[in-house]
Amino acid sequence: MIIDFHTHAFPDKIAEKALKKIEAMGGIKPKFDGTIKGLLESMDSAGITTSVVLSIATKVSQFESILQWAGSINSERIIAFPSVHPDDEKVVERIFEIKNAGFKGLKMHPYFQDFIIDEEKMFPIYEAIEKAQLILVMHSGYDFAYERIDKAGPKRILKVIEKFPGLKFVATHLGGWEQWKDVEQFLVGKNLLIETSFSYDYLEKRKIEDIILTHNPDQILFGSDTPWADQKAAVEVLKKTEIPIEIKNKIFYQNAIRILGL
Ligand SMILES: [Zn+2]
Repeated sequence: MIIDFHTHAFPDKIAEKALKKIEAMGGIKPKFDGTIKGLLESMDSAGITTSVVLSIATKVSQFESILQWAGSINSERIIAFPSVHPDDEKVVERIFEIKNAGFKGLKMHPYFQDFIIDEEKMFPIYEAIEKAQLILVMHSGYDFAYERIDKAGPKRILKVIEKFPGLKFVATHLGGWEQWKDVEQFLVGKNLLIETSFSYDYLEKRKIEDIILTHNPDQILFGSDTPWADQKAAVEVLKKTEIPIEIKNKIFYQNAIRILGL
């Protein structure tokens, strides 16, 4: 069993356009066509049982359509996380709407949604997510499609998790993409979940092992960030690391089962 905690897909009608747009921004070729059907095929070839599909509301107005689509794709193999936009004046209400609709969590992205994760305007949002007991998957570290301006680095993440100790915070990209030195300094061993996506091609195997083995083994989740990475390759890289099998099992599925309440 393998649960991929970080995937993306889009409604059939807009998948092609959405992928082209993101590809143009970041220069990375997608590994499948961006549809749910394409994702399921990718999962089959990688031996992945379940994928968490993360949406990002890049505009306030997208909340409703994302919520509806997320509800429509939920299935035995797909767990959808909708999104709120921080500039939405109804953002707190929206968070409880997500909770009441039965979703397990939501995704936010400081570069696509234009915020800094430890700025004051975010605090009521974290408070609401904490209160709703939703999982917050936060894009962490730099983003390959944007200038290297620190909006979600480990030091900022530490401030957030210290201020909201009950928040189920998932830091993506092994704690902070291309800010891994700071991950080791500020985040390993702290009370947060770290997801592994998009580190495999950018970090040597030894470093991945170091970060994983110094963090709490109950707080690491497997993620691929497909379509921007290949699910099968992501599985293989983690399998090949010299991490004890008991910890690999936690990363591949046991921690996700517990966190998602499956
Ligand atoms: Zn992603």
